[in-house]
Amino acid sequence: MLSIVNKIKNVLSRKKTVPTLPIQQVVKASSYGLTAKKIQPHVVKIIQRLEQAGFEAYIVGGGVRDLLLNIPPKDFDVATNAHPEQVRKLFRNCRLIGRRFRLAHIYFHDDIIEVATFRSSDVNTPPAHFSEAGMILRDNVYGTLEEDVWRRDLTINAIYYDLTRNELIDFTGGLNDIKKRIFHLIGDPAARYREDPIRILRAIRFAAKLDFKIATDTAAPINELKELLLHVSSSRVFEEMLKLFFSGHAGATLTQMIRYDLLSLLFPSLKILPKEFKANADSLTSIACRNTDIRYADGRSLNPAFLFAVILWQSYEYRLIQHLEQNDDRVTAENKTLNGLFQEQIAVAAIPKRFTSIMAEMWLMQPRFAYRDKKRAMSLLEHPRFRAAYDLLLLRKESGEPIEDLTTWWTTFQTADDHTRQAMFIKRPLVRRKK
Ligand code: ATP
Ligand code: MG
Repeated sequence: MLSIVNKIKNVLSRKKTVPTLPIQQVVKASSYGLTAKKIQPHVVKIIQRLEQAGFEAYIVGGGVRDLLLNIPPKDFDVATNAHPEQVRKLFRNCRLIGRRFRLAHIYFHDDIIEVATFRSSDVNTPPAHFSEAGMILRDNVYGTLEEDVWRRDLTINAIYYDLTRNELIDFTGGLNDIKKRIFHLIGDPAARYREDPIRILRAIRFAAKLDFKIATDTAAPINELKELLLHVSSSRVFEEMLKLFFSGHAGATLTQMIRYDLLSLLFPSLKILPKEFKANADSLTSIACRNTDIRYADGRSLNPAFLFAVILWQSYEYRLIQHLEQNDDRVTAENKTLNGLFQEQIAVAAIPKRFTSIMAEMWLMQPRFAYRDKKRAMSLLEHPRFRAAYDLLLLRKESGEPIEDLTTWWTTFQTADDHTRQAMFIKRPLVRRKK
């Protein structure tokens, strides 16, 4: 293992290829209250085995960051100078994944520990692949810890924890940033966003999750570069969107999204909404994000389809009205609306079919709440999506739609006994369907 002095020498001699002069800091982890006891035993074992085989191995990323903030870490990521194939040879329970970014996954029952080989950010050495716009296509140039630091996104995500020496290695001022509750993108922010625009969403996500400030230089290019997100694979954007909204910080995420005007980038149909629809959409979205966080805190299940259906409900309504005004019959108008809306949405963030089908059902059920005769009310109640559709109805009321008679009726009806239900049925709909 390289001594720290050699590491510093290495870094200084490599000044030309690293973007910023490093602030290398090695500190006792114990002075930050960190000991190996706080690390999952599997992770400790992985690190020990890599080191026994002569490699370097550290914990880095969210695990270290969260421990320093006294937040229970979601997982621990391991960084090593062992190449993926060398990692695989050391662990029977290991699988290599990813083409763009080759990684080792080590399996323990239902747990997976990610082991990443140090990367070099030296763009001149193949096989790092960049697109014409400067976006990283593949990043499999292996390197040293000193090089690995610079390809990480944020200062607070680039603190390496050396378990054996119980030391923290911080080249980018991450420890100081954590203290000040702020973060910087490492290197030149605009270039780093261009390399991988998903970092824009990651910056938003950590600002929301940690309640940290995004440093001015890091926030500055977001507005100009955010449209680059439209060039990122839509499944990657979707994956990031799940983390943004379903990790207990949807409300704070929404605030950040509004600040950087990102919501209508991720949900493009919001962009063309007339004022009144947009105001309704905003109000629905904000209530639903708050509820999502409450459910998360209570440990209740979260179906992403529900929140997405709420966010896009006004887009659906607006487009449906437009199609109906063009004299389409209702079913044709509904189909055209669903197809157009989803096509546009999926091009940006690939919401999978299993979710879009639920969203469609929830929307199509909304007008059916007006029909409260025995046959139709009972059939709606027995619909597998009744609960989700009813919850959307409640949110619509909460956001100011004048549908209190409907919500009151359905709330009572659900739990009423047979006798009461018989008395509740209404022969003709009180609210006329649009067409
Ligand atoms: P959490 O797991 O809590 O969501 P994390 O910071 O651990 O947060 P991961 O996605 O697990 O995030 O990534 C692990 C580490 O890999 C990050 O901390 C960061 O150092 C690096 N990383 C991840 N994605 C990127 C990226 N797009 N660009 C640069 N570095 C990245
Ligand atoms: Mg992580």
